[in-house]
Amino acid sequence: MGEFKQLVFSGVQPTGNLHLGNYLGAIRKFVALQESHDCIYCVVDLHAITAQLVHDDLPGQIRSITAAFIAAGIDPKQHIVFNQSQVPQHAELAWIFNCVARIGWMNRMTQFKDKAGKDRENASLGLLAYPSLMAADILVYRATHVPVGDDQKQHLELTRDIAMKFNMDFMQKIRAAGLGTDILVGDEPVHAYFPMVEPMIEGPAPRVMSLKDGTKKMSKSDPSDLSRINLLDDAETISKKIRKAKTDPDALPSEVEGLKGRPEADNLVGIFAALSDRSKADVLKDFGGQQFSVFKPALVDLAVEVLAPVNGEMRRLMGDPGYIDSVLRDGGARAGARAEKTMKEVRDIIGFVQ
Ligand code: ATP
Ligand code: MG
Repeated sequence: MGEFKQLVFSGVQPTGNLHLGNYLGAIRKFVALQESHDCIYCVVDLHAITAQLVHDDLPGQIRSITAAFIAAGIDPKQHIVFNQSQVPQHAELAWIFNCVARIGWMNRMTQFKDKAGKDRENASLGLLAYPSLMAADILVYRATHVPVGDDQKQHLELTRDIAMKFNMDFMQKIRAAGLGTDILVGDEPVHAYFPMVEPMIEGPAPRVMSLKDGTKKMSKSDPSDLSRINLLDDAETISKKIRKAKTDPDALPSEVEGLKGRPEADNLVGIFAALSDRSKADVLKDFGGQQFSVFKPALVDLAVEVLAPVNGEMRRLMGDPGYIDSVLRDGGARAGARAEKTMKEVRDIIGFVQ
């Protein structure tokens, strides 16, 4: 049996301000993985036009996500940082995957249902096809590991389904072209061109919730800015948002079990734990029995302390858009060369004359 070379890929949409959920659920993992893996990190601008077509300042949003990557500690020289639209092979493979994936698979995606809202007929076709573009983002590099937040779990399962169907449908052609690797999928040997990607969801904060509603995930696209802490918020704004965050009237419990049924309390304790690299149980040892009037100011101090360096470096980088653009161009050229290598093979497998 063979194995695919390990490669990490992940993306962030330039749909607005990066927030604490993106930072704790995704970007901190991106940074850590650089030590052990070859990594490709992408600003997925083609995804950004699926829910909203026209943006006031899409270039600014793309540059701000790139600045956040670098400010958080991603090294664009050692690894690859670029924006998706500079590598058209993503869209080319996505089209092929649109013909691999089934409409029924797409209709089951909970993110589509959430983002399309009540008027589903009026959602863009791109929003429905979003997961097949995401599968292409990953598989155009034949990446094996994808660090993401918990909300992306279903899309990664779909990526595996697409890879599996492509591998099975084209197995003979993959062999005939002298391509692919023998792998085990469960107990079954498969001659695979695309790897079965491994989601990397575990971590201290796989799902940070909205500050206004502990049952909704914190999102860039939430219309209320009070629902999230942005990486670019200053100390005063962070303090205001945490002070206004929804809570319940009870004191904090001394044990983690006491957070059950208290989504807002659970979320704030979880944020404190992730920001301080401690467990929730450990945080509750300090704050169990205390009121939110005591806990919230401590959370403000911690959030400001952790985010201030990232915030400062992001602002400095955003003052130099020429540098940001050069990072994206350089990353785009290196990513493009790798993506074209895959696409040449994929065109051969399918039978497109080239
Ligand atoms: P949008 O509302 O436009 O979808 P988003 O906040 O969901 O924006 P994405 O760009 O879709 O951000 O996701 C980037 C990464 O951040 C993904 O890996 C996603 O799983 C992760 N992520 C997003 N929101 C959270 C959250 N609240 N907690 C933890 N991880 C998150
Ligand atoms: Mg999202």
